[in-house]
Amino acid sequence: MAKVVFNEEKCKGCYLCVAACPRKIVKVAEDRMNTKGFRPATVEEQDKCIGCAMCATTCPDCVIEVYK
Ligand code: SF4
Ligand code: SF4
Repeated sequence: MAKVVFNEEKCKGCYLCVAACPRKIVKVAEDRMNTKGFRPATVEEQDKCIGCAMCATTCPDCVIEVYK
């Protein structure tokens, strides 16, 4: 199973990764903010991830790492 890890403190809330995910599992974390004041992108449904790394490739700030 693939695993997606976000360095939430680096996220600037552009949500390009949300649009890029073909499984539509990258979401905005509505329950928290990082110290920059942005709601970070996150994946709760890790079991649905196919490990394509589209999210990580799209992120301009290298926030996301995908492990297979
Ligand atoms: S693309 Fe990167 S910086 Fe933009 S919301 Fe996603 S994780 Fe955050
Ligand atoms: S690796 Fe692919 S399927 Fe998994 S969260 Fe990122 S874009 Fe979505």
